Amino acid sequence: LKSPYSGGHLEVVVGPMFSGKSEELIRRVNRSVIARQRAVVFKPAIDTRYHATRVASHSGQSAEAVAVAGTVDARAYLSGEGGLFGLPTDLPDVVAFDEAQFFDEGLVPLALELADQGVRVILAGLDLDFRGEPFGVMPELLSRAESVEKLTAICVVCGAPATRTQRLIGGQPAHFDDPVVMVGAQEAYEARCRVHHEVRR
Ligand code: ADP
Repeated sequence: LKSPYSGGHLEVVVGPMFSGKSEELIRRVNRSVIARQRAVVFKPAIDTRYHATRVASHSGQSAEAVAVAGTVDARAYLSGEGGLFGLPTDLPDVVAFDEAQFFDEGLVPLALELADQGVRVILAGLDLDFRGEPFGVMPELLSRAESVEKLTAICVVCGAPATRTQRLIGGQPAHFDDPVVMVGAQEAYEARCRVHHEVRR
């Protein structure tokens, strides 16, 4: 363990698109950096929303990040030379994962190992996909986390708290059977409440 009181644990931040998950992750990481803690932020390499080596929120804040193809790469990055059990003895104080829903199943054991080694692990991601179904590894992370924050956006139709992500293809609600990840499609996303979230069957 890093210290007598290790403090290792999992914090999960979820909500639909535009709910401020990246803002919240950046806020938590920046506070720890100001307090001279060492923090590493990982993001999936497929998300090149603004910069290849930063995480950015829709409102413009950003923080340094490491783009990785998967948890094998994240583990290798943390291991460096001479790591024990694949993890080094001088781990960062904070390890954060943005867009956690896009990571592979290895994220759960990696997050748990880091927490067991005394690391504060922050995981931000979509709890639901565009269909309103639980997204990838998020359900297991949510149940294993010490702390969970569910954020809402504002429904662009009625102004109610938005808990869903509306996917539009050519301006029309997407079909339930559309692939969760569509590369290169003419698609757009909006924050919507339960009532105004539409999925075509
Ligand atoms: P997330 O990571 O959850 O997608 P971000 O942290 O990237 O969210 O962005 C949150 C920001 O998105 C808000 O602070 C606001 O500026 C902007 N935004 C755009 N559309 C909406 C909306 N419908 N409701 C709330 N915020 C929105």
